[in-house]
Amino acid sequence: MSKGTINVSVENIFPLIKKFLYSDHEIFLRELISNATDATLKLKHLVNIGEAKGVEYGNPIIEVKLDKDKKELRIIDQGIGMSEEEVQKYINEIAFSGAEEFLEKYKDKNSKDAGIIGHFGLGFYSAFMVAEKVEILTKSYTDAPAVKWTCDGSPEFTLEEIDKKERGTEIVLHIAEDSTEFLEESRIRELLIKYNKFMPVPIKFGTRTEYLPKPEDAKEEDPAPTKEVDDIINNPYPAWTKQPSELEDKDYTDFYRELYPMQFEEPLFHIHLNVDYPFNLTGILFFPKLSNDMSIQKDRIQLYQNQVFVTDNVEGIVPEFLTLLRGVIDSPDIPLNVSRSYLQADGAVKKISGYITRKVADKLKSLFNNNRKDFENKWNDIKVVIEYGMLTEEKFFDKAKDFALYPTVDDAYFTFSELKEKVKTLQTDKDEKLILLYASDKEAQHSYIQDAKDKGYEVLLLDSPIVPHLIQKIESTEEKISFVRVDSDHIDNLIKKDDEQLSKLTDEEKNNLKQYIEGIVPKEKFTVQMEAMDSGANPFIITEPEFMRRMKDMQRTGGGGMFMGDFPEMYNLIVNTNHELASEILNSKTDKKRERLINQALDLAKLSKNLLKGEDLTAFIKRSYEMIK
Ligand code: ADP
Repeated sequence: MSKGTINVSVENIFPLIKKFLYSDHEIFLRELISNATDATLKLKHLVNIGEAKGVEYGNPIIEVKLDKDKKELRIIDQGIGMSEEEVQKYINEIAFSGAEEFLEKYKDKNSKDAGIIGHFGLGFYSAFMVAEKVEILTKSYTDAPAVKWTCDGSPEFTLEEIDKKERGTEIVLHIAEDSTEFLEESRIRELLIKYNKFMPVPIKFGTRTEYLPKPEDAKEEDPAPTKEVDDIINNPYPAWTKQPSELEDKDYTDFYRELYPMQFEEPLFHIHLNVDYPFNLTGILFFPKLSNDMSIQKDRIQLYQNQVFVTDNVEGIVPEFLTLLRGVIDSPDIPLNVSRSYLQADGAVKKISGYITRKVADKLKSLFNNNRKDFENKWNDIKVVIEYGMLTEEKFFDKAKDFALYPTVDDAYFTFSELKEKVKTLQTDKDEKLILLYASDKEAQHSYIQDAKDKGYEVLLLDSPIVPHLIQKIESTEEKISFVRVDSDHIDNLIKKDDEQLSKLTDEEKNNLKQYIEGIVPKEKFTVQMEAMDSGANPFIITEPEFMRRMKDMQRTGGGGMFMGDFPEMYNLIVNTNHELASEILNSKTDKKRERLINQALDLAKLSKNLLKGEDLTAFIKRSYEMIK
């Protein structure tokens, strides 16, 4: 047996390893299984190129074994193994200095960065985050004798020859007192599923019972025969590692299930990513059904590096609007041991993000072109992603012009250019501006929608939370286009045409009427406006100016910017001076009667805008009964 001292230049590296990334201790298992996988794939490569003469590659697996009584966790592979010299070189020198360098670099970093740093880098020595003693029993695929390396966490190690026949490496972790959670079967299984579910070499963890078909002559009450089989944790050939041509739609949905076992909804469609130049990236993205509720999302896109799970926080790698999607991205070209801010500035990562955006846009366009009806049916479930993308990514905005849809309240779907074409004759106002009318709630804005439809106008139904921001953007990129919500003014004012309505009242009468009304309706809530309109239009109409309301909406969904603080509740009360009721109010014999008429008309206007509530509603009902007595 030989003894030696690892060449320590960082004082006491082991306690440091232990302390480092406290919450990330669990990654040791992924690191060790990655090493076992590498060792297996290296051997495969050597066999393939004829460098490992006489070696039978077979069907190697990696085994994870737990012995709770002995407080041991073993990771056993059938890979290339190491000779004594190789252990000296790779474990005592290279791996050690790697770990040392890693710690040196990151030990002072704040914990925010630690998240991603912890994803990769520490390697073999991460074993000391959970073990008080580590042994390596290894036999090289060459003739070199097997050796055992032992280290108890001090810089001293021992190295001795042993009698191990099978090729490969066995890592024995003597789990430390403070890490006994890693002696629990369920905890290890959880980690294997989290990090190794799609690794390329089969991983065995214990056995499971398999039920076999009953023999023909079995009696009803005979139990089905069983067999103990290796419990293989992973699927070494996940869908994203295959060519799209090898896969059917069903394979994609099956893979979705595999990825998110708790997700019962089917995805709407998928996008298979596959590039090898100028960077390597494979993956499958799924469009899930999304509601307007964009709050916390549990099932997120998972990032892998050569089939090893890294994180499900892909912020910075995938453009923000696509983080609402699900699926997998696998790339060896994403630098993981750097901070997020660095990641966002990295050229390769920018290209990756640009590529993903383009692929998503292309897929949407082809879905739109190939089956428009189907695309329209899915629109409600995907619009949030598309609208959000249009708002935040210039390139996506340009591409989305071809497939972004504008649905009407009657369920017709237009692209933007179709919409302009359709409405331009009727909805261009006297200043040559094209006015696009929209509603956000079919029920609540019913009477306003009806007024617009009576004029032959199209009313869009735009109800996602980011719409106010998006239309703001469209207005700034398109010439002479305005979006206005149907309830923001009387319909004649929304799209102003040249024909002025004649007024039945004189200016003096109008003034008197205005004063009467202002004397009764609360000033701080309503601005009274006299308008000579069609005598068939309602006498009182409450509107909320587009600008004010939109700013309020934008502030609610964040990012409105310019204004701080709450907007006051302010409405316009439009009085149609050509309506019979206007004259009746004006010519009322008593103040009491006039007051009653004004209150009643105001309440009706409030009612049609969903504003009549509480005490006012009670008073309205009471007053209405009085009037029909
Ligand atoms: P990395 O894997 O990033 O190179 P590690 O610290 O994890 O760093 O491992 C250092 C080296 O030790 C590996 O490059 C490999 O040569 C050797 N090694 C580690 N584990 C094994 C194993 N299970 N079988 C064979 N060699 C191994």
